[in-house]
Amino acid sequence: MGGIFGLCLHDECATDLFFGTDYHSHLGTRRGGMAVFDGKNYNRAIHNIENSPFRTKFEDDLAEMKGYIGIGCISDSNPQPVIIDSRVGIFAAVTVGRINNKQDIVRRLISDGNSYFTEMSGGGINDTELVAALISRKDNVPDGIRYAQEQIDGSMTMLISADGGIYAARDRFGRTPLAIGKKDGDKGGYCVSLESSAYINLGYKTCYTLGPGEVVFLTPDKMETVVKPSQQMKMCSFLWLYYGFPTSDYEGVNVEEMRYRCGQSMAEQDIREGTAVDVDCVAGIPDSGTPHAIGYANRSRIPFGRPLIKYTPTWPRSFMPRDQSVRNLIARMKLIPVDSLIRGKKLLLMDDSIVRGTQLRGIMDELLSYGAKELHGRVACPPILYDCKYLNFTRTAKENETISRQTILELEGTSSLTEDQVCKYSEFGSKAYRNMVELIRRKLNLSTLEYHSLNGMLDSIGIDKCNLCTYCWTGKAD
Ligand code: SF4
Repeated sequence: MGGIFGLCLHDECATDLFFGTDYHSHLGTRRGGMAVFDGKNYNRAIHNIENSPFRTKFEDDLAEMKGYIGIGCISDSNPQPVIIDSRVGIFAAVTVGRINNKQDIVRRLISDGNSYFTEMSGGGINDTELVAALISRKDNVPDGIRYAQEQIDGSMTMLISADGGIYAARDRFGRTPLAIGKKDGDKGGYCVSLESSAYINLGYKTCYTLGPGEVVFLTPDKMETVVKPSQQMKMCSFLWLYYGFPTSDYEGVNVEEMRYRCGQSMAEQDIREGTAVDVDCVAGIPDSGTPHAIGYANRSRIPFGRPLIKYTPTWPRSFMPRDQSVRNLIARMKLIPVDSLIRGKKLLLMDDSIVRGTQLRGIMDELLSYGAKELHGRVACPPILYDCKYLNFTRTAKENETISRQTILELEGTSSLTEDQVCKYSEFGSKAYRNMVELIRRKLNLSTLEYHSLNGMLDSIGIDKCNLCTYCWTGKAD
């Protein structure tokens, strides 16, 4: 997916930019970048962060980065920030999102006179450069941002450093959040961040949250809305469930608290549906399954425990090899079992979601080999049935590689699925749904398996359901 951070201060901004951008490292694994503007020139650094953390890669750049306006990003694909000279002046841009109609836009821009685009080393055109080219079609940056967002099929949130400040633009349907923080004092100013927790330790307090499609212009002295927000929102539910950092708030709802409520709701579902089980301990699959498990344990009054503990000191999250079998090996090496909490015990394990299920199956096999007596699986969301078409989630397998689709293919005895077939299995509690869950249970070597209902999960977020994106589970855009 990726994360973005920017700030305009009455003081040198590089140190705050460095830490604020670094606090988005959980959102991307491939590239990091920062650009600082001193009133005349930009100073930019971009590094590959696949094998070492953002801070290690950028600490030597800090001394060179002089200026009071800065933007930074953690990216899963494009090298960013891009800096371009254009009819609206020189500007720098960072983006987070996805462009589904890239080829159409490129063809149109080239036929309209854009002579070339930079090909990235891995092939393909840099999304952020494409956004910059669209912005440059108009006479000023706010009109250019609005035009770019209208042209893009997908989702695009961006920070544009131009006109002596930063334009912060949230995507049209607000799938990704943007919050503004303010630091008082002579050296203070404003910052803008995808994760609202990225600036807490830097001394900023949240003063505003952008609405869907809204564009705000920031300078060290003020912030003003230059494009009003729209009414229609489809915020990504997955950010609360798994991807977002626990200390952040989106739409006024804290991520960690939502996960507690989600686990509590799952426990209530088990009681209501008669699927509650008698176990010795409730545990989460580290890390993001843990708060869901705390909520489940608190509601069910079954003790919470950590039979598997993650060894974090030498395994930065950014170490993510492309090869799936190596990834599975690393996932296994990161988790160390506590023998006395596993041997002879009946365990209920909560995970935030199941995509392919290969890593979860590996964990279950390990726990059984360490002497667990029974393993029960609980999943904080419904089975994932559709590939996200709005954000570039690296976690998402190809649609038909998810364990739920694989299982439906097996049950239907076919090699491709119609929409009606998928729909039949998505209905919570239906005969087809139960058959699918039962086969997944057997594949994962579990004594019982239950998924959270969509309504239960959405109620745990607590904002109007109409404002939430649920495409991964329903395949419905609206
Ligand atoms: S499809 Fe899923 S991951 Fe993508 S924006 Fe919607 S809820 Fe988020």
